[in-house]
Amino acid sequence: MRPVAIGLGANLGQPDDTLRRALVVLEQLPDLSIVAASPLYRTAPVGPPGQPDYCNAAVALSTELPADDLLLRMQGVERAFGRERNGTRWGPRVLDIDLLIYGDHVIDQTGLTVPHPEMHKRNFVMRPLADVLPGAYVPGQGAVAAMADSLGDAGLRLWTAD
Ligand code: ATP
Ligand code: CA
Ligand code: CA
Repeated sequence: MRPVAIGLGANLGQPDDTLRRALVVLEQLPDLSIVAASPLYRTAPVGPPGQPDYCNAAVALSTELPADDLLLRMQGVERAFGRERNGTRWGPRVLDIDLLIYGDHVIDQTGLTVPHPEMHKRNFVMRPLADVLPGAYVPGQGAVAAMADSLGDAGLRLWTAD
């Protein structure tokens, strides 16, 4: 099976609740199925200061959808949760879904870069990705588990109900 993975993040409203509901929506979409979902993590925000903590997770998918169609579907889910794009990158958001890896494909087209260009720097992406696809590779970069281990777990903890 081709390993396909998405990363989810939210930091407005009830982010953990948003991610749980997003998983239910993903499960119900046609043409894809969830293979594994990571635990939810609570992570310190990157980008503009003063934002609430993020809730992050990764999901492994099985799908025959081409990568660009898959991204469009994910953007549809973001919109369904009220995501508005106002041009501020890394600003607070109700739901963000990034396409992390799509098998061994390397894609560099307008609006879609795969592997996701920032993922190798982010423990809040790589740790949950290692939870769902521990044996996978990031094309051109290395083994998911080793990359997650080398980033470490600073600023990252499991989301608990506290
Ligand atoms: P980052 O991409 O650094 O995580 P972000 O998620 O906040 O930042 P967005 O505003 O959600 O960025 O997306 C900016 C653009 O990135 C989108 O218009 C989308 O077309 C593009 N994009 C390119 N590659 C990808 C990818 N692999 N997954 C999701 N979006 C991507
Ligand atoms: Ca993102
Ligand atoms: Ca995004």
